[in-house]
Amino acid sequence: MGLIVQKFGGSSVADAEGLKRVAARIVATKKAGNQVVVVVSAMGDTTDELIDLANQVSPIPPGRELDMLLTAGERISMALLAIAINNLGFEALSFTGSQAGVITDSTHGKARIIDVTPGRIREAIDAGSIAIVAGFQGISQDTNDITTLGRGGSDTTAVALAAALEADVCEIYTDVDGIFSADPRAIPAARKLKTVTYEEMLELAAAGAKVLHLRCVEYARRFKLPIHVRSSFSPLEGTWVVENHPEGGTMEQAIIAGVAHDKSEAKVTIVGVPDRTGVAARIFQALADNDLNIDMIVQNVSAAATGLTDISFTLPKADGAEATTVLKKIQGEVGFASIQYDDTIGKLSLVGAGMRSHPGVTATFFAAMAEAGVNIEMISTSEIRISVIVREGDLERAAQAAHTAFGLDSDQNEAVVYGGTGR
Ligand code: ASP
Ligand code: MG
Repeated sequence: MGLIVQKFGGSSVADAEGLKRVAARIVATKKAGNQVVVVVSAMGDTTDELIDLANQVSPIPPGRELDMLLTAGERISMALLAIAINNLGFEALSFTGSQAGVITDSTHGKARIIDVTPGRIREAIDAGSIAIVAGFQGISQDTNDITTLGRGGSDTTAVALAAALEADVCEIYTDVDGIFSADPRAIPAARKLKTVTYEEMLELAAAGAKVLHLRCVEYARRFKLPIHVRSSFSPLEGTWVVENHPEGGTMEQAIIAGVAHDKSEAKVTIVGVPDRTGVAARIFQALADNDLNIDMIVQNVSAAATGLTDISFTLPKADGAEATTVLKKIQGEVGFASIQYDDTIGKLSLVGAGMRSHPGVTATFFAAMAEAGVNIEMISTSEIRISVIVREGDLERAAQAAHTAFGLDSDQNEAVVYGGTGR
């Protein structure tokens, strides 16, 4: 008998039909002799709709109340799923994040899990029930308030629970058949990957691939917990996220795992920054003090005549207004000339563990961009990733060109999108 944690995303439980289909799938796992813990997201686009509603009543909803509101979405789906399972003659009990022992810090909207104490879940499954847990939420250790883990956080709930329960596997069910070499919604020739390493997946998630939440992968890597990403709409084997690729993987697989593209970032340029020790520290400390996460940074060589330089960085569009405000506050003290804000950029990233040992990847990548007529505005690299900033309007063409250039195009029509709006 195994212990399996299964996570179902919003598109898998978008309506009553979906809930029934998922219930049947959970029951089949239980019937096969496993203990089953399920983590569920809010139905369909519920979370987005709740955010829209909040914004209609206030331009800046307080974080505590927004979390209270959003966690209601998962409460609806968890209870309905438990009801659907009970209807199939199996006992299921639903639990909120706080009942399931998901303890977090008190940062509303992006709380971090501090501890998971799943006593009630263990009790429920030991008594033969199926436990259904509301994803993406917990309770703050110091304020006792309800928190959320950030958009897409149900993956993290699932992996954290799986780790705490020492589950054999965490299965993440979604609306495509696994992890693809590119977003199958934009690149129809994307191919399904058999395996991805934690390291590659971390880079892909950080690069904006929406398939798994970044923190969930960090968690899985820390606990060496295998994740199986698969479709709730088909019985096919999906993609395994593991420590290492198995021996005998194909060459392409080893060099480039895939490309990710992301339209969610904006670029801020601070113009005319005095080139002095401590200036960059001052700027980025001010941003960090406001919990603003910076992604790519580029600083130019300062012009000899003026001793001034420009610093550009990217960050989530959602944080753009706040970052600009923070920077304006320190403008006088730092002495820079002006701030430019550009939210029409796109980020394209190429990820693969094999990059380490294969020279020429950058050259091939840039040649593909040139051939596609795409101008590169910023570049950043890690050992196994190259990211570039391009015009937003060029992004999908650039992604397709890179995908083709590295021989990733599949001729098998694997990239079936079964559901969801991709919102
Ligand atoms: N319902 C939340 C969201 O859409 C959490 C999740 O889906 O994982 O972000
Ligand atoms: Mg969702």
